Amino acid sequence: MINAEKLKLQFPIFNQKTPSGLDLTYLDNGATCHKPQSVIDAISDFYSKGYSTVGRASYWPSSETTVAFREVRKLVTEFINAPSEDEVVFNFGTTDGINKIANTFLRPRLSAGDEVITTEMEHHANLLPWQQLCIEKGAKLSILPILDTGDLDYESFETLLNDRVKFVALTAVSNALGVKNDLKRICAIARKKNIPVFIDAAQSVSHDEVDVQDIDCDFLVFSGHKIYGPTGVGVLYAKKKWLDAMMPLSYGGGIVKEVQLQESTFVDGVARHEGGTPNIAGVLGLGAAIRFVQSIGMHEIHSYLMDITDYAKTKLNEMDGIKVLGNPVHQAPTLSFVMDGVHPHDLSTFLNEKGICIRAGHHCAQPLMKKLKVPATTRMSLAIYNTKADIDKLIEVLKETQAFLS
Ligand code: PMP
Repeated sequence: MINAEKLKLQFPIFNQKTPSGLDLTYLDNGATCHKPQSVIDAISDFYSKGYSTVGRASYWPSSETTVAFREVRKLVTEFINAPSEDEVVFNFGTTDGINKIANTFLRPRLSAGDEVITTEMEHHANLLPWQQLCIEKGAKLSILPILDTGDLDYESFETLLNDRVKFVALTAVSNALGVKNDLKRICAIARKKNIPVFIDAAQSVSHDEVDVQDIDCDFLVFSGHKIYGPTGVGVLYAKKKWLDAMMPLSYGGGIVKEVQLQESTFVDGVARHEGGTPNIAGVLGLGAAIRFVQSIGMHEIHSYLMDITDYAKTKLNEMDGIKVLGNPVHQAPTLSFVMDGVHPHDLSTFLNEKGICIRAGHHCAQPLMKKLKVPATTRMSLAIYNTKADIDKLIEVLKETQAFLS
C-alpha cells in the first residue's frame, strides 16, 4: 500500500509554504507533475558532474553520458514493452511527437478525399495537426463522438471506418474528463483494415501500464513532465516498419550515412529520427522518473490513485450545487466539475487563496466543452503525493466558496 505522505517527502516543492504561508495542495497533475529529488539530482548531476554531448565523442565524460543515455532508451523500451530499442525515439514531448508524425508520416500518405479519424475528446495537441493536414490535403477529418457518460461511442467507430480512412488518432485518457479509452478495442478494429493507429498517452503514462504490444498500436507518444520527469523531453514509439519507411523526423546532425552538397543518405534505426543534439539532461531525468515510478510499482500507483479518485468522486457527488461531468466506465484520476452560479475561473482563484492549485478553463479541449455545453470546467487531477486529506481540504474550501460566492 502506498504511503503518499511518505512519498511526498521526496518532492522538495512540498517542503515550502505558499507565499501566503499555506501548505501547498497541488491538484493540477494533468497539466504537469512535480519532481522527486532523484529526478532533480539526475539532472543536476549531469550538469555539474558529467556534462558533455552524447554519441559522437570518445572522451570522458561523453562516453559515460552516452552509456547512461542509452540505458534510458533500454529502460523506456522495457517500460512500454516495445519489441526493440529501435522503436523508441526521444523527442521534445507529446505535441512534438504528434506534429512530427503528422508531417513526416501522414503528409506523404494522405490525398484529397482520404479520411482521418480522431475523437471528440482530444486535447488540441491531438486535433490541430491532423485538422491542418486534412485542410491542406483536401481530406476529411472524421470525428468519433462521445456518449453522455463521456465514453467513446465505440459502435460508431466501425461505421466511420470506411475504405477511405488512412489514419486513426486518439488519446488514451481524456485530459478534461479523465475518461479512459479502450485502446485495444480501437486498435483491433482498425487492424482488420490495416489502418495505422496513433495513441496520445500523455494522460495515461503516469498511472496506467503502457504496453504497446498488447495495445497493438502503430504509434504512441508521451511527455516526460507528466510522469514526474522534466519538461522538454518525450518519447515517440513507432513500429519499426514505419520508422524505417519514413523520412527523418527532423533533419540535422547525427542522422546521416553520407552528405553531399546536393543530396544525402540517412542511417537506419532511431538515429535517423533524432537529428541534432538531444535534450540529454531531459532524457537522463526521464530515466530517473521512470526508475522512481518503477520503485513504487505501476500496479500500486494505479490502485492507489483509483482509490482516492473514487473517494473524490463520491465526495463531490455528495455536494449540492456541484456537478461532476462524465461518468465513464473507466475513470482515470482526473475529474472535471462545475459549481452552480460560480464561474470556474472565480472558483480556481478562490481555491488558490487557500493554497489549492487546481485548473479552470477549457483544458485545450474546446470542442469537448462545446459538446458538454459549458464554457469551462474546474479540473482536479491527482498524483501519487495526493491524499484523501487533500480531497477533504478541497471539499471544505468548495463549501466555503459556495457560501461566499453563490
Ligand atoms: N495530449 C494530452 C491528452 C494532454 O493532456 C497534453 C498536455 N496537457 C498534451 C497532449 C500536450 O502535451 P505537451 O504539452 O507535453 O506536449
